[in-house]
Amino acid sequence: MEQYARVIVDISLEKLDKAFTYRIPEALFGRLEPGMQVEVPFGKGNRAISGYVLELTGEAGFDPEKIKEIQGISKKGMQIEGQLVRLAAWIRRTYGCTMNQALKTVLPVKRQVGEKQRRQVRLLLSREESQELLVQLEQKSQLARFRVLAALLDKSCWEYGRLLSACRVSKEVLLKMEELHILRIEQETLVRTGLPKELPSPRKILLNERQRQVTEEILEGWEAGDERPCLIHGVTGSGKTEIYMELMADTLRRGKEAIFLIPEIALTYQMVRRFYQRFGAQVAVLHSRLSQGERHDQFELARKGQIKVMIGPRSALFTPFSRLGMIIIDEEHENSYKSEMIPRYHARETAVYRALLSGAHVVLGSATPSMEAYYRASRGEYRLLTLKERVEKRPLPQVAVVDLRQELRQGNRSMFSSLLRQQMKERLTRGEQIMLFLNRRGFAGFVSCRTCGHVIKCPHCDVSLSLHRGGAMRCHYCGHEEPAVNQCPSCGSGYIGAFRAGTQQVEEAVLREFPGARVLRMDADTTRNRDGYEKILGAFSRGEADVLLGTQMIVKGHDFPGVTLVGVLAADLSLHAADYRAAERTFQLLTQAAGRAGRGERPGQVVIQTYCPEHYSVETAARQDYEGFYQKELLYRRLMGYPPVKELLAVYISGADLEELEIGAAALRAAADTLNEKGELEVIGPADGVIAKVQDQYRKVLYIKGEQEELLEACRAGLEQTLQADCFASLYIQFDKNPVSGY
Ligand code: ADP
Ligand code: ZN
Ligand code: ZN
Repeated sequence: MEQYARVIVDISLEKLDKAFTYRIPEALFGRLEPGMQVEVPFGKGNRAISGYVLELTGEAGFDPEKIKEIQGISKKGMQIEGQLVRLAAWIRRTYGCTMNQALKTVLPVKRQVGEKQRRQVRLLLSREESQELLVQLEQKSQLARFRVLAALLDKSCWEYGRLLSACRVSKEVLLKMEELHILRIEQETLVRTGLPKELPSPRKILLNERQRQVTEEILEGWEAGDERPCLIHGVTGSGKTEIYMELMADTLRRGKEAIFLIPEIALTYQMVRRFYQRFGAQVAVLHSRLSQGERHDQFELARKGQIKVMIGPRSALFTPFSRLGMIIIDEEHENSYKSEMIPRYHARETAVYRALLSGAHVVLGSATPSMEAYYRASRGEYRLLTLKERVEKRPLPQVAVVDLRQELRQGNRSMFSSLLRQQMKERLTRGEQIMLFLNRRGFAGFVSCRTCGHVIKCPHCDVSLSLHRGGAMRCHYCGHEEPAVNQCPSCGSGYIGAFRAGTQQVEEAVLREFPGARVLRMDADTTRNRDGYEKILGAFSRGEADVLLGTQMIVKGHDFPGVTLVGVLAADLSLHAADYRAAERTFQLLTQAAGRAGRGERPGQVVIQTYCPEHYSVETAARQDYEGFYQKELLYRRLMGYPPVKELLAVYISGADLEELEIGAAALRAAADTLNEKGELEVIGPADGVIAKVQDQYRKVLYIKGEQEELLEACRAGLEQTLQADCFASLYIQFDKNPVSGY
């Protein structure tokens, strides 16, 4: 029986740990919920003040005699802070974390007045880049750097002194790593970023027929009380952004506010400018480059209603607008919408819940919707709106698929197939631009045959095995292991091994084969500087280079009308990442990459080079056939019981002592089995993590699959209960609902 409530009376971040327990009077039994504002007696004089209910509990925690009683529910109604507390409670319940962790995610950090600015160290690499670098550092035995990077991978921002002592390194190590743009040491408030220096003149595009229909359909649905999220599935260049702006204008006209989420990587000047042009100073932007204090300032402007539109990545979702009317999530399929830190919330689901609390609408958009979103749309949980054509009837690009096995057979060992080479030559002669895309996403040391394209997979999980030092190939889902091979089991060829190729090698190859070509390279190395990214994109759009070469970062939403050829050098790389989303990611990357070609007057050509042209993700991407891909992928997910058909809960377990870890992991497995008496869930593992050991911490993963979200949530809550047991004392355990990357 929940007779007590934890109440917080001061909602500034430093005081979040100070929640007080109050007794719930009988009259309020069953009426209180997290986020509600209540009147409570406080201090020696029992002065009446108001506070927010954080959670309800059956335990007093200390002498029940001394506990004071809640006086009543506040008459002020649900304030924005209350909504956010309620959202935090939902995050806690849905993703598994403490209430404090959830509150810290949701509430803006208040700057302490007069506090000396402390030094912080922040990771500048993405999770994937970090993991890749981690493996390299380990191989080169650069252990000091390895420890620092591993610590930052666990928590991307550290207090300077604490990081030094935790990793047992000297400050020279940090300085060197800063020089290499792996991390940044922040000591003073960075330059305030608000409006861009020069505000361009307003510009208005007339919506075309289809854009107008979609906009009207959405608005009419809202008018009629249809509260379902809208999913706009529009091919690349179909004019989705213009639709967002039209919807936003409508929201503002009604005196409401809007949040516009975009993936960090697409948060470019080019994108933001379109919104400034239309909405001017009502717009604010949240970057990861803002300091905590600056973020807080932006949030304050929003809370006071001085800005009406917040543009930003995932965390902009928590902008404290009190009249929130709409949340838009562009490129809804992007992995960066999933938090990699606890709580591991997904912005899409969280947006839907926040919208429910605020009475706001949710709009999702993508050329390649996530399996989750499309699945929901196909079941009628979301409203689906489709744009099949590009604006002004620009044709979708021509796509050719080149079989690299064939090229090898014909004696061509260069990175460029004869078709791609010939096309590049043509473009260079005509002075048109080329984008070359090296797919390195999800690289995890998969083993493939260069002669026949065969990839070695786990016999139990249908994900590729990863090659480990010491020569074993391992599955990171179930732990299956087999010795590495030096001959292809399918065709007998000796050209088999772990795949590796870098942007630098590609750049050298371009210059070798096309002397005089002006090449810009965009990858983690060239963009770690503050403005590296914008500089490269700017130079390319001004026509200062012929070839833009890069990793997945070049495929995101950029509009370069001069590009008439896109080459994808090795489409497979992401196909064999050791996780069940590999095909989806490959399809998305290929489709988005292809979408970069022919966005101007001249039509575009795309060349996809691959070792597995027959794979459905390559085939359907080449045809720009989303529906075809979705149906095939859904069959696979259904067969294997992966999301969105089933829910997947990952439990990450780490610890310094391998034996204790193994005992703890086995105990968790046993606990999960007990919770699963009825056999409604499927428990898999424990298996080693993708990186089995980080910073002397061994890592294991347990997967639990089930039909219903509630069952998995109950199972997770049950596991959380057992974590008090002694065998977990030395272990660190995290939950991840429907993970988007390996652990
Ligand atoms: P998406 O977001 O679907 O990729 P955008 O909204 O970025 O598409 O539009 C692609 C390009 O077409 C942009 O340069 C945009 O300015 C232009 N555009 C969009 N809608 C129209 C329109 N109705 N008339 C003319 N140009 C348009
Ligand atoms: Zn082979
Ligand atoms: Zn397996």
